[in-house]
Amino acid sequence: GLILAIETSCDETSAAVIRGGKEILSNIVSSQIETHRLFGGVVPEIASRKHVEVITLIIEQALAEAGVQPDELSAVAVTQGPGLVGALLVGIVSGMSLAMALDVPLIGTHHIAGHIYANALVQELEYPCLALVVSGGHTELVLLEEEGVFRIIGRTRDDAVGEAYDKVARALHYPYPGGPHVDRTAAQAQTVIELPRSWLEPDSYDFSFSGLKSAVLSAINQANMKGLELDVPGLARGFQESVIDVVTGKALRAAREYGARQLLLCGGVAANRGLRARLTELCEAEGLPLLIPPHALCTDNAAMVGAAAHLKWKRGQFDELDLKADPGLSLEAWSVKPPAAAE
Ligand code: ATP
Ligand code: MG
Ligand code: FE
Repeated sequence: GLILAIETSCDETSAAVIRGGKEILSNIVSSQIETHRLFGGVVPEIASRKHVEVITLIIEQALAEAGVQPDELSAVAVTQGPGLVGALLVGIVSGMSLAMALDVPLIGTHHIAGHIYANALVQELEYPCLALVVSGGHTELVLLEEEGVFRIIGRTRDDAVGEAYDKVARALHYPYPGGPHVDRTAAQAQTVIELPRSWLEPDSYDFSFSGLKSAVLSAINQANMKGLELDVPGLARGFQESVIDVVTGKALRAAREYGARQLLLCGGVAANRGLRARLTELCEAEGLPLLIPPHALCTDNAAMVGAAAHLKWKRGQFDELDLKADPGLSLEAWSVKPPAAAE
């Protein structure tokens, strides 16, 4: 099946054509980061307007680059949620009109299922597997006992990892999005400023990063008040080490407990060099295969949405043409349904 996928959940407008859930024929991404940087973060109204401006062109480009005619498509997939409601709506309306005009099925897709199934564009998944999702809005450990069935075994109780990175970066006066700047600065550190690790209850797979973020902000404030020079690389490194210790520690413990055959690193923070390096080391020592998508498939893109949508396409699980944007769409509820019992 040839799926045209559309992603507009946040500040990237993207369209892709995917064959068989695996092969990327095109994956066009137009980022609005330069616009939002002026405001230090994503402005929802501006995001929606920018999506409207470029979506048609991005879809045309995706089809052209794939060398696919619209009437060859088997289905149209759109991100239904989670995300900014106005931004999601732009992709949904475009996808719906295309599906209607071409008379092909529409598949509303979960954005985080997309981040997870980005890995399927790189390598065959083996079940059970465990996904460590670290993105701008999510930090979750997701167990997949079988294809397309998601079970969240741990989630953040406050900030997402990417959000904590962006807030720390902002306090250090780096431009938005700050994650990559903190990563780069941490790599240059000669010293490490020790910061607390938030493990929560001993058996918990949940996360919490707001205490760590506050510790960083208070270190910055104290240096400012005392007029001392701040060891910025040391602080960035201390922050990063704390994050990495906790997320990798919990991911490996969960992988062991649930007998995961693979560990999948997913979401924008998967681009973090320190995190990739540590996880690679730990998984090698453990004999656990680790999957990390290439950078372009870690950050928001439509190819990953097409990969997730293919799970439903294979099973003939489609949506009506009155699909609603759902900013709080549940990942577990989006799981593929068991086949209907034979009559
Ligand atoms: P979600 O997927 O949860 O809806 P999102 O789509 O906004 O959120 P992504 O695009 O997956 O998030 O990831 C963006 C986040 O990744 C930002 O917070 C950004 O700072 C962070 N990020 C990107 N590169 C790095 C890096 N090298 N180190 C740390 N964080 C990074
Ligand atoms: Mg983004
Ligand atoms: Fe995302």
